[in-house]
Formats: sequence, structure tokens, C-alpha cells
Amino acid sequence: MNSKEKIATLSKELREHNYNYYVLDAPTISDYDFDMKLKELQALEEQFPEYQEADSPTLRVGGEITKNFNTIVHDHRMYSLDNSYSKEDIEDWEKRIQKNLGDVDVEYTCELKYDGASISLTYEKGTLIRAVTRGDGIQGDDVTTNIKTIRSVPLKLKGDYPEKFDIRGEIVLPFDGFKKMNEERIAAGEEPYMNPRNTASGSLKLQDSSLVAQRPLECLLYSIVGSNLGIETQYRMLDKAREWGFKVPTVAKLCKTTEEVMDFVNHWDIHRHDLPYETDGVVVKVNNLLHQDELGYTSKAPRWAMAYKFKAEQVSTVLNEITYQVGRTGAITPVANLEPVLLAGTTVKRASLHNADQIEKLDIREGDTVFVEKGGEIIPKIIKVDVSKRPSNSLPTNYIGSCPECDTLLERTEGDAKHYCPNEYGCPPQITGRIQHYISRKAMDIEGLGGETVELLFKEGLIKDYADLYTLTKEQVMPLERMAEKSAENLVNGVLASTQIPFERVMFALGIRFVGETVAKKLAKAYKNIDALMTASVEDLIQVDEIGQRIAESVVAFFENEKNVEAVTRLKSFGVQFEISAEKLENQTEKLKGQTFVVSGVFEAVSRDELKKMIEDNGAKVGSSISSKTSYLVAGDKMGPSKRTKAEKLNVPIISEQEFLDMV
Ligand code: AMP
Ligand code: ZN
Repeated sequence: MNSKEKIATLSKELREHNYNYYVLDAPTISDYDFDMKLKELQALEEQFPEYQEADSPTLRVGGEITKNFNTIVHDHRMYSLDNSYSKEDIEDWEKRIQKNLGDVDVEYTCELKYDGASISLTYEKGTLIRAVTRGDGIQGDDVTTNIKTIRSVPLKLKGDYPEKFDIRGEIVLPFDGFKKMNEERIAAGEEPYMNPRNTASGSLKLQDSSLVAQRPLECLLYSIVGSNLGIETQYRMLDKAREWGFKVPTVAKLCKTTEEVMDFVNHWDIHRHDLPYETDGVVVKVNNLLHQDELGYTSKAPRWAMAYKFKAEQVSTVLNEITYQVGRTGAITPVANLEPVLLAGTTVKRASLHNADQIEKLDIREGDTVFVEKGGEIIPKIIKVDVSKRPSNSLPTNYIGSCPECDTLLERTEGDAKHYCPNEYGCPPQITGRIQHYISRKAMDIEGLGGETVELLFKEGLIKDYADLYTLTKEQVMPLERMAEKSAENLVNGVLASTQIPFERVMFALGIRFVGETVAKKLAKAYKNIDALMTASVEDLIQVDEIGQRIAESVVAFFENEKNVEAVTRLKSFGVQFEISAEKLENQTEKLKGQTFVVSGVFEAVSRDELKKMIEDNGAKVGSSISSKTSYLVAGDKMGPSKRTKAEKLNVPIISEQEFLDMV
């Protein structure tokens, strides 16, 4: 097989696996095998870009940047839906329909109402050509580049699809993926996202499509629009969309009577909690498309469809006490401790109050009877206070002024939603939180040591920071609660083994604010060892690809603190890895040491990524924008004119691809 055929075969195979995995939820190969095949395809495409297919599976990783999203007028308006809340509402609606249509049998398709961001996809000749948000229904934003990274959106269709049509659906973020994203954010010391719906719609407007690609978004479709589609019913339409390769949930049901519709509604009102994504109701649609045509639209919504909104489950209970939690970064979160109450199938004892503003806005006080709701948010929240039940001696809540754990005065910087305890190195939950982060799976992955043991070790005065872990002996650990000789040995060995963890993970483990896994890798790669990184200035750091001002300042502040420098020095003395391993250094030189290159345009002999890698492998940094610190601008074909002007203005030498290759 020649390279062209190989690329075609691999593309086809990977597309099929994508479909099995993301649309059918039934993968037929392991994730590992999939990744290997994808890497193989990537390598081939880099070598023979001319054979890359327009809808290659490798494009799913994104990378294109959209600065401004173009406004696109919808060919067919995207309507809203009328809402109903009871069986009576549905019956009234059905009566109106029957009156309108006369003496015919009317059937209904019931579907779930997915709670995400609406999207309209346009296909021509089976190829996705455009994806537009709902916007105001008449015009929306062109988010095609971002949508292409969502694996369940087919880039090419199967079967007997029409020449041209639009298909509508909802972009959702399933609970699992949402939870994982939040765990990663928390690990990086960032605020978790509030709920899946807002996160999904926010994702569509990210400028960097590779960030969208990293989010586990899904696209669920429910309606095809176009002319001469040769489809007669809504129910059939769902089948067709499924046949062409779209993800269409199979729970839709064809109903003949109001009773059947209500059975569907009542069933899903309870069972929606078992679904992998958020739903906020059911959409009932007149099944026959000719009937739909006849019924038409009001100024706002189709007459042939009706949303039945589930009630967000709400209960009232007494708020016994407001307590305050201190996180690893010192952020304070007020927590409502409730009289236990059953809500959406679980007993709720606590609800998050977010911050001081939230408490003030709702005037929440201890002793109040409050309404608690469990919407998309995983943690229940308080919606409002039942003021009629407020005790006569009740006083407004006084937000704490000092840390509940260490009594330090709290700080709140302008623009911060939360108060912070600034006593980073003396505040117990911040100390243990940092150590817990250090030992966590994605950081140093220390076996035989868990979060509770960290707290115990701290309480016993055996550890005060993560470097102390390396001084622990079996004899010290053994007397602790629930420790035996074997577990103590495991702990000590686990700590010892962590000295083999590579530098990039150590960088993450240090717990520098805003330095998550990816940023840690970038920094490790750019600076190669901790000494270089510790002396880097903010100006230096922002030269590194993807490092912005906020991260740079945080890194500098971290190493300005003597406590951190001391901890690093001690970790070093215990053998923890503080430079990129020798293996990684192989094939690497110092030829371009100390220089910064900015790369722009399209290249001939090597790909852009290869070029960047060559720069880094030869000891230099890849910069994201031109400044007076830039050593060279490597100019490819179709380079942006603004880069050139800026380089000329700052006297940054502009070199060609060949000139660069000669340098290395
Ligand atoms: P609303 O925003 O409450 O007016 O509801 C209308 C929105 O519901 C539409 O823009 C759709 O994006 C969304 N929706 C979710 N699931 C469905 C479905 N199965 N059928 C039609 N619309 C749906
Ligand atoms: Zn504190």
C-alpha cells in the first residue's frame, strides 16, 4: 500500500471507530489502539500533507483560532418553544391542534428536552459546511471550527442523505465529563464551573478550538430542516438522522393519546436522573410533518410543538448553621448546614452558598427556612428564604472577617468572587491541601499514602510541607491510627518511589496557582530544569507559548517566597527530579540556547509543530508574539503582515525556513 492509500484507509478506519465510540457508545477497539492509529495517521499526514483528507480524523484535535465569530443569518429561523407545566396544559394544547386540523388522527413524538446550547448544522453533499449558534433565532455566530472538534458531529455522512439540509440539535456536556473537568480545575487551583449547560455554551465561543477539543462535549440532534427531504414524520426524521450518522437518543416515543404522552413525561421526570446528561423537560411534537406545516408558527414558537418543563426539584428545610471551608488555595466557601432532607433521590445535608455576595443578596440567615434546589449543579443550592417562617429574633448574617482555621484576617481583592486566607504556610487546611495535591494521582502519585493519612501526619507534627514526606521513617509512621508494619512500609516506599516521577509532573505537584498539568508540561519543556525556571522573570515567562501574564506572575510570586525555594532545595536533596530526563534530552542540543523564536506562516520542508519542536530541542524557546526579546522571526508562506511590521519595527531579524534549518 502506498502512503496515499494508507492515509485513506486509516482515515476511514478511524472515522468508523469515532462513530462507534461517540455516536453508538459501543467502541470496538481499546483507547490505546485508537491513539496509536491516530498517531500513525498524524505522522503520515505530516509527511504527506497533500494526501490529508478534508475531514481527516486528526482535525478533531483543533488548533485553529477564531478571533471574531462571524454573524450568519439562519436560512430557517430557529424558534423557541412554548412551555407547559401540567397535564391540563398539554390537553389544552392538543385541543387547539385538533380544532385547527379538523377531524384527523393526530400522533405525537415525545423527545427529551436536552439542556445545553442550541446549534444548527448545515450539510452539503454529505459534508458539514457550517455550524451556527441559535443567537436571537434569526442570526447566530459561526462556530464551525469549534463544532468540528466534537467527535459525535459527523464531518461526512453515510447513506442516502439529501443534497443540502440543516439539522438542529443541542450541544451538551455530560455529567461525567463535567465532573472530570472540574476536578482538573480544582487540582490547578482554579474555581470549578457552575453547571454543565453554561460550560457547554461557553465552550462554543472559545477562541482556541484545541481547547474545545479537550472538552468532552456531545451533540444530540432532533430536527432536520430543508426542502424535498422525502420524510413524512418527526419520528421517521429521527431514524433518518441516526442512519446518516448523527447521535440521536433512542428514548423518543411515538404516542397516540394524552395518556401515553403523560406516561412518557412522568417516567422521565423520575428517570432523568439516570441519564448521562442534563434534561429540563420533554418536547412533544405533532408527528406528521404535513400537519406541522399546516399548523405553522406563532411569532415565537411552532404551534406543533410544546415543551413540558420538569419542575426543578425543590424542598424546604431549616438552615441550622453557616460554616466556612478553607480550600487548598485559601479560598473561603460558605456552606449551609441543613436539617437533612430528601431531594431528587438523595439526602441533602449541605448546600453551597458560594460567597459573601450570595448570602447578602438572598439575605440568608441561620435559623431560616430555605428552599433548596438540585438543578444541573451537582451540589444543591439555596434558591430563596421563606421569610414568613423567619424567627422574630433573627439577625442578618455577619460574614466572617478572619479565617476559621487560623484566625488570620481574610482578604478580598477587587474582582475576586471570594475571600482568601493569606496565611498560606500557617493555615492547616492550606498546608494539608498542598500536600494532598502533591501526592495525588496526576502529580507524584504516591502509593500507600492517602488524604486522611496526610491530615494525621500533620496533626502529629510529623510533616509541615511536602518535602517533609521524604524524612518519614517506618518507626514514626507505625504508631499512627490504622497503621501496621506493612502499611507503614508501603508508605515509606511509596514516597521513595516518587523520586522517579518526571520533572513535568513534579512541576504540577508543587501546586503553583494556575499551573495545571498542561502548563506544567510547557514550563518543564521550555526551561528544562528548575534553576532556569526559578530565575525567570515575568517578561521571560510570557515569551513561552501559551503562558500568559496571570500564570507568569503566579510562577514568579511562588519562587519569590523563600519557603518554596527551601522546599524545592530540600526536595532536590532527597533526589526528586528537577530536570527533564536524559532520555528526553537525547537528540537535543544547546545550539540555540537562550534565544527565543517566533514562528509564523506555513512551511515547506517541515510542519509548524515540527519546527517548534526543533526550536525547543535545540535549547531555545518558542514565543507566542513578537517583542523586543524575540531573537528571530521564522517566516513561512502566508505570514501575517502585522507580524512582519512589528518585527521590522523592533529590529527583530526575519529568517526563512531554510535559514533556520541551516542554524540547526
Ligand atoms: P427554550 O430555550 O426554553 O425556548 O426551548 C427551546 C430550545 O430547546 C430549542 O432552542 C432547542 O435548542 C432546545 N431543545 C432541546 N431538546 C429539544 C428537542 N428534543 N426538540 C426541540 N428542541 C429542543
Ligand atoms: Zn487560614
